[in-house]
Amino acid sequence: MRVYATDIVKKEGEEIELIGWVHARRDHGKLVFIDLRDRSGIAQVVFPARGGSLPDGGRGAPGENASTDNAGDLRLEYLVKVGGEVKKRPAKMVNDKIPTGAYEVSAASLEILSKSEALPISVDGDGYDIDEEVRLKYRYLDLRRERLRRNLIVRGKVVKFIRDYLSQRGFIEVETPLLTKSTPEGARDFLVPSRTQKGKFYALPQSPQQYKQLLMVAGIEKYFQIARAIRDEDTRGDRQPEHTQLDLEMSFTTPEEVMSLVESLFTEMMETFFPEKKMKTPWPRVPYSEAMKKYGTDKPDLRKDKNDRDEIAFAWIVDFPNFELDKQTKEIQPVHHMFVQPKEGSVELIDKDPLKMTSTQYDWVCNGCELASGSMRITDPELQMKVFKLLRMSEEKAKKDFGHLLEAFTYGVPPHGGIAPGIDRLLMILLGEPNIREVVAFPKTGDFRDPMMGTPSDVDEKQLDELGIKIVKD
Ligand code: ASP
Repeated sequence: MRVYATDIVKKEGEEIELIGWVHARRDHGKLVFIDLRDRSGIAQVVFPARGGSLPDGGRGAPGENASTDNAGDLRLEYLVKVGGEVKKRPAKMVNDKIPTGAYEVSAASLEILSKSEALPISVDGDGYDIDEEVRLKYRYLDLRRERLRRNLIVRGKVVKFIRDYLSQRGFIEVETPLLTKSTPEGARDFLVPSRTQKGKFYALPQSPQQYKQLLMVAGIEKYFQIARAIRDEDTRGDRQPEHTQLDLEMSFTTPEEVMSLVESLFTEMMETFFPEKKMKTPWPRVPYSEAMKKYGTDKPDLRKDKNDRDEIAFAWIVDFPNFELDKQTKEIQPVHHMFVQPKEGSVELIDKDPLKMTSTQYDWVCNGCELASGSMRITDPELQMKVFKLLRMSEEKAKKDFGHLLEAFTYGVPPHGGIAPGIDRLLMILLGEPNIREVVAFPKTGDFRDPMMGTPSDVDEKQLDELGIKIVKD
């Protein structure tokens, strides 16, 4: 029966089968040892020498063993199937650096399932020292390394935890389209040309913001989605053209309810998967003005000791202004986005002094990073129109781009609000990684290329013709 490498600790004396890659190989002449690596980790396998008799009585099968004769042919990263008995290692051979270090498999059969050329990158070790371009070109090998495999496994578990937590509390997971219309989250859109309607374009969603608000109009009441947000941002810093959010929206809610839901969800998640982390609860709440005055930023790092890997300082920033002046253009713009409901008592200021308006926005921050923004939403079509106009949109353009939303708000719209925590950034911090690429299976380079697939790429002339597109070369 096939077992995973790390399960051999429960199988002493049993005949088992392992399938995995040759992670390391030590040929001692009389005996050949391999470290076999599979999804779970590493197990040592010992092969009797080719046709030889055993030197130290009791290790491995006795005498000739034609079925493991090819052990001497094994090379690194060969994929093999090994059958044999799980034994305790002799005391002096125990390796307490690995979880299976007290056991080994004494091989009785060996099948080479697939050979491997010498790898272009080493998959032993953490890989931080390898040129990232090469790591990304061979990402399918890079992902074999322990650190990245662990990151993917933890990521999968965290996402499942989020799904279970919210589903158990009455949230409905709804998928929203990838081919959609430009959404104003403040970044540039990725455009997709339409073939059937030449000259027209879809936009990939910068977030499901409008869809989730429309789902509230539809009566879904509690929505979530593990959603991809796709933004053609300037390629600076630790950016990716697509990132994953826990997108969430609720009807008949309050900022208090959204914040406490997120706080209990992630506190429980931390206790489940990251019990070693030191985290202050309840998360402190800091008004925006205080954060700016005291720390000079709206994403303050509230850790006591910034060198402590395990200190996690979650906090909420509240009472944001609705609007601010763009540093460069000096034009008025939303602090979060254009659907944010102003705080009670602030709404009237939109006609007189919009920069003095306070909004219902709340941001979740951690160790100097922003993890999420959210707010209550505008549901009054008149107020929404005023915001569009304040942001220099003509009534005509507003109706063309957002007519569906304004109209939806005339058919019995429930008050609603939500938030969208970024999953990549959260995991990056919790897993102690230096950038989000380390927690994404197939990330892109800093300038948005995928060296493995060769993306972005040229396309055939025929494809361009079908779309009615001509490339202008500079
Ligand atoms: N759609 C927003 C964002 O992606 C989050 C929200 O307001 O819920 O930042």
